Amino acid sequence: MPTVNAYAAPSATDPLVKTTIERREVGEHDVLIEIAYSGICHSDIHTVRGEWGTIAYPQVVGHEIVGTVAAVGSAVSKHSVGDRVGVGCMVNSCGECENCLAGEEQYCLPGNTGTYTGVDRDGTITQGGYSTHIVVVENFVLKVPESIPFEAAAPLLCAGITTYSPLSHWNAGPGKRVAVVGMGGLGHMAVKIAHAMGAEVTVLSQSLSKKDDGLRLGASHYFATSDPATFKELRNHFDLIINTVSAPLDINAYLKLLRLDGALVNVGAPPEPLPIQVFTLFNNRRTFAGSSIGGIRETQEMLDFCAQHGIASEVEVIPADYINEAYERVLSSDVRYRFVIDVATMV
Ligand code: NAP
Ligand code: ZN
Repeated sequence: MPTVNAYAAPSATDPLVKTTIERREVGEHDVLIEIAYSGICHSDIHTVRGEWGTIAYPQVVGHEIVGTVAAVGSAVSKHSVGDRVGVGCMVNSCGECENCLAGEEQYCLPGNTGTYTGVDRDGTITQGGYSTHIVVVENFVLKVPESIPFEAAAPLLCAGITTYSPLSHWNAGPGKRVAVVGMGGLGHMAVKIAHAMGAEVTVLSQSLSKKDDGLRLGASHYFATSDPATFKELRNHFDLIINTVSAPLDINAYLKLLRLDGALVNVGAPPEPLPIQVFTLFNNRRTFAGSSIGGIRETQEMLDFCAQHGIASEVEVIPADYINEAYERVLSSDVRYRFVIDVATMV
């Protein structure tokens, strides 16, 4: 089995350290990817710190992976050596349940196989993208359009699809007022994608410190949620609100910003429950919903959409030995707007 370099969390409390892991031999349906860049998603931090439940250590995280195909199995037809490819949050699914057959593998009924902390076909725990190579079945490998620089493409594999999917499902487009809560990794992609879809975009951020960036990325309006006047001014205003915040919020205050038949879609994933006042939902026939990443077909659609509209992630490329500092900066909302690890610094 090939041994490759990686950065792993040794425990919920220790910093990530350089290590080596084993990747499986390339099977007949597998693609071996030489990873170029790997994004840092807030989910990586929730996971390694045990905030979503106990995991086995050491654990390599990272599910925003781009790189070049280095080898393919004998039965692979979708990808060739040298192709620019990406891998997102899942590396397999049953392929047979009604959700998989509908192309929504993220909702695989027996459960998709996560890119990390998942149980792989051979019973081992999957290890993610903070690593020099990964082996993935061809159906879960995406094509990265030539026009998107590798480092700016990596975050599309999670932050991009996680915001594209609900924006598309809830019909963000011309005539729709869309609010994005939290302008971090997911939030800044939501702004760009919703704007490219033709919606009128408003950012709801804790402060106005990133206002210039928000307007540059495609928002028409930018409000601070620390100012109570924001919630008065925007009452009954939005068709769609995408909440990307990683911490619990007073969700009822945001629901009140929805107009008739508006929906608030929660993609932020704090471990704590979010109490909902049902009367707030009755008013304006509001919807509170959730959404998880996106299927493989939709992820390819999102990559092609981003290429077509000339959009990708705003990134700060870092060497691997900066990961722990980057985590602290993500936790203090000091990220502009995605840290991406240059995997060449891991060799
Ligand atoms: P991120 O880069 O840290 O962005 C989160 C943003 O939320 C921050 O930039 C900040 O924006 C705002 N925020 C943070 N703490 C806050 C607080 N206490 N109160 C109010 N606002 C706060 O994180 P991310 O990588 O975008 O991920 C966001 C969340 O989505 C995480 O919980 C992650 O696990 C989850 N996620 C879910 C899915 C899914 O499939 N549903 C996929 C990926 C990630 P401002 O500075 O603008 O206020
Ligand atoms: Zn993610």
